[in-house]
Amino acid sequence: MAGIYIHIPFCKKACHYCDFHFSTSLKFKEEVLTAILKEVGRQQAYLNKEEIETIYFGGGTPSLLNKKELKIILNKIGEVFKLIKTPEITLEANPDDLTLQKLKELKEVGINRLSIGVQSFFDKHLTWMNRAHSAKESKECIINAKSLGFSNLTLDLIYGMPNLSNEEWEENIKQAVDLGVGHISAYNLTMEQNTAYAHYVKKGIYEAPSDEKGAEQFQILIEELKKAGYLQYETSNFAKSNQYSKHNSSYWKGKKYLGIGPSAHSFNGDSRQWNVANNKKYIDAIANNSAQYELEELTNFNKVNEHLLIGLRTIWGCDLSFIEKELFEKTHQAFLKELKVQIADGFVVQKENQLFLTEKGKLFADRVASDLFVEE
Ligand code: SF4
Repeated sequence: MAGIYIHIPFCKKACHYCDFHFSTSLKFKEEVLTAILKEVGRQQAYLNKEEIETIYFGGGTPSLLNKKELKIILNKIGEVFKLIKTPEITLEANPDDLTLQKLKELKEVGINRLSIGVQSFFDKHLTWMNRAHSAKESKECIINAKSLGFSNLTLDLIYGMPNLSNEEWEENIKQAVDLGVGHISAYNLTMEQNTAYAHYVKKGIYEAPSDEKGAEQFQILIEELKKAGYLQYETSNFAKSNQYSKHNSSYWKGKKYLGIGPSAHSFNGDSRQWNVANNKKYIDAIANNSAQYELEELTNFNKVNEHLLIGLRTIWGCDLSFIEKELFEKTHQAFLKELKVQIADGFVVQKENQLFLTEKGKLFADRVASDLFVEE
C-alpha cells in the first residue's frame, strides 16, 4: 500500500524560521490547484496500482483551502487511484484557520486527522516566530476539534528557541498533554540559510539557537512525554495508544509515496524525485506537459544509508538482512566493523537481526547514522 502527499504552497505569514516552499501571495492559487489536479492524473502509473492508505495535505498551510477546493482534490485522487475503505486523510492546519465552521467543513469533506501547528502556548514565542495565531486560538481549536469528534489529532511544538526557558518548555508539554491529544511532534529550532531568522541573527537582532539548550530540552521532552504515557516511536514523534501517523510511518518504513504540487517529493522504491520548488515554474511545466521534477536513481549504497538514517530514528529499527543483501562483502565487513564500535560505545543495540538506538544514541541519532554510513 502507498501514500499520497499534496503540497499546498501558500501561507498567510512567513514564520521567521521556515525554509519550506510557500508563498504569502495567493496570486497563483487557482493555477496551482488546476496544475495539482492535472498532476494527479499524470502520475496515475507512478504507484504501480498500489492501493492508497494515506493522503496527507501539507505545506505551506493547507487549511487555507476551502471545502470545495479540498473536495475537488480528494475526488480527483479517488477517480485516479484505488483507495482503501477508510484511508487516513491528514490536513496540516494553523489554529487561526480552525474556526468551528471550518472544522465542521473539514469533517464533512472527509479529513479524519488534523496536524495542528501550535509551536508554543506562549504568545511571546509566537510573536518571536512571526506565527499568525495566538495561544488562545490554539487551545480553542483543539477543544473544538475534539468536541466535533476529531479523535485523531496531532500538534507540533518547537523547542530550543533562545527565549524559551526550560520551565516554559515543560509548561508547553504539559498543556499539550492536558489537552488530551494522542500524538505530539516536537522539533528543535534550527537556523536555516535564507530565512528571516538567519538574517536577524546575522544582524545581531536575534540570538542563534544553542545546541546545549536544544539537547537539554529534548531530554525534558522525552522524560515528560514518557511520564505522560506517550511512546517515542520516532525521534521527534510521540504517540499514545498506537495513534501513530500512518502516513509518516510509511515514509519511515520505506513504503512508496507520490508527492503532488510544487516542491513535493516522491519515492517508488528505486528512485526519488522532487518537483520544482517554484509555483510559476510548476504551473508552466504541468501546462506544457514537460517534466516538473528532477529524479535520482538510488544506488544500493543510497538505499542502505537512507535505511540507516531513517530506520534508526524509529522503534522499528534497521534490518541487518536488508543491509547485508544490498552490500558487497567488503563494504559489508567495513559496516560491521563500525557497528561494533557504535555498540561498544553504547549508542546502538542489536536485537536479533534488528538495530536500534539506545537512550544515549537517541540524543545523537543523525550522527550515529552518519558514522555507520557506507561509502561507494
Ligand atoms: S505556516 Fe508553516 S509552512 Fe507557513 S511559513 Fe509558517 S512554518 Fe512555514
